[in-house]
Amino acid sequence: MESTSQVIHAAPADQPSSVHQIVERLFPAYTVDFGNVHLAGCRLEDRLFVRLDFRHGDQPLAVYLGPDGGELRRDRVDALGMTEVAQLEKPPQPFEPQLRQLVETGVRAATERCGDGRPLQLLTTTVLWCKFAEGKLRFAVGDHTADLPFADWARTLQPPPFVCPYTSASTFHVAATDDGRVVAAEQIDVCSETGRRVLVGELITCSATGRRAVAELMETCPVSEERVLRREMVACSTCRQPVSPTAIRRNQCAACRNLQPVSKADPRMARALDEHPPLDRWRNWRISETAKVYVLMATGWLRRLLVVVDKDSLDLKLLATGGRLFSGWHVVEPPQYDYVLRE
Ligand SMILES: [Zn+2]
Repeated sequence: MESTSQVIHAAPADQPSSVHQIVERLFPAYTVDFGNVHLAGCRLEDRLFVRLDFRHGDQPLAVYLGPDGGELRRDRVDALGMTEVAQLEKPPQPFEPQLRQLVETGVRAATERCGDGRPLQLLTTTVLWCKFAEGKLRFAVGDHTADLPFADWARTLQPPPFVCPYTSASTFHVAATDDGRVVAAEQIDVCSETGRRVLVGELITCSATGRRAVAELMETCPVSEERVLRREMVACSTCRQPVSPTAIRRNQCAACRNLQPVSKADPRMARALDEHPPLDRWRNWRISETAKVYVLMATGWLRRLLVVVDKDSLDLKLLATGGRLFSGWHVVEPPQYDYVLRE
């Protein structure tokens, strides 16, 4: 193959060539509530591509090679702006060994492609210097920051979406929660009780009111197991346990409305009687349970006994007596427990 030695240096005419141009391309894409975005480092590096112009018989042939020696497809050539170039007076950095290798690779590729016997001549070697941009965007709200790396050819660089480090949501709208986490703005919601700005997933819906609030203000109803604002919890008129208003009917919680006959041999009864032997004097027990307590009721000839026992510790949470024919209960204070149970 014949060859000439003409080497030209050039760069895509319209590629961003300064950090300032990178900033102009990236920053307008983002909105930062009560904060800003800035660069936390940006490097523009010239990387070497090659265009080899051949004559094959009477036909022109152009071969483009990337820095790694791979041949570029036409869409890549267009995307990097290699068809509209501006000539450079001098190369931005040393290039000889890399160029020699790329030319060898390109000539080999062209020779393989043009194996029909017609003469192949390398006319021009154009070294194309494409800028690669690499850096970090920093989103700042007050003293808190979050970084977003970027890396692409300067000409094709697009603003990358901010990926929320807490929710993985992608966005171009950045804001901070009240405790200073820099997150996707769409993922922020306001606690109806405290006004605190937190992540959507950190708010819990109260089943009684529909209001959404932070977890420390919520309670789990031991009867319905629904989440309820603590201040909305109401005491059952029978067991006196705080429950969700949705678990109450006729002033009673669902557990107290559903007492079932139980024998003393039932493991739950056996545990309670073992812990509180004086209860064994009572008969005709009925039982119900919530997530936290057993509600036990005994019925005698003249009186009824209501006992609420913690399921874990078996501590007495409530002791009350009532007449057999009246529905009300008289709550017994702890100092009188022994006296009442002995009767
Ligand atoms: Zn109850």
